[in-house]
Amino acid sequence: MKKNSINRVIGFVIVGLVLLAAVIETGRFVYTWSQQAAKQPRYTIVIDPGHGGNDPGKIGINDVPEKDVNLAISLELKEILEQNDCRVVMTRQKDEALYQAGDTNKKVADLRARCQMINDSGADAVISIHQNSFTAESSRGAQVFYRASSQEGKKLADILQTQLVSGLDPDNRRVAKANSDYFMLKNTTATMVIVECGFLSNSKEAELLTQASYQRRVAWAVALGVLQYVSGGLS
Ligand SMILES: [Zn+2]
Repeated sequence: MKKNSINRVIGFVIVGLVLLAAVIETGRFVYTWSQQAAKQPRYTIVIDPGHGGNDPGKIGINDVPEKDVNLAISLELKEILEQNDCRVVMTRQKDEALYQAGDTNKKVADLRARCQMINDSGADAVISIHQNSFTAESSRGAQVFYRASSQEGKKLADILQTQLVSGLDPDNRRVAKANSDYFMLKNTTATMVIVECGFLSNSKEAELLTQASYQRRVAWAVALGVLQYVSGGLS
């Protein structure tokens, strides 16, 4: 009798230990799985801050170079997207151009290097950030351009245009526009748009585009559009 109850206790202890080991193992598996899930963002986005280094892009009516505005907005956009399930590839993260010392046509070499990064990225979407300029000072408002032959590009551009209008300037009547000439649209295959965030030739917009708070607003409008597009909703 006594021996039986000792055996029973030993039996319980063994079953208990086996269960404990199973719980620990399961916990470890779930932890590893969730860590891996956390490390693998769902979408890949390329952000291309236009110009850089020896190429300033447009010069604003307030003397601010386009390349600086492009990079500031792009870095904000990177941060927002990385917090929202995106892996972000940047064509540049500082004030530089992407040509080699021996390249004869530095502008084309820079653009080719960007296209190569885009084509190698497997991106779900590519966002090239630029600022516009025009001879008439009154021209203003963000506008998105897409590859004329790309239906996905048009879809992304329309979503982004809507977000930019509602997020920055509801009076902006510009619509997303097809383009067949831009070097980067012609030499890439991924879904890509060029976002002209505003006109540096318009004094009010140039002033806004130079402010960190407005740059953040632009980045948020673009990020909301990108996330809406990649998640396939509400177009
Ligand atoms: Zn530009």
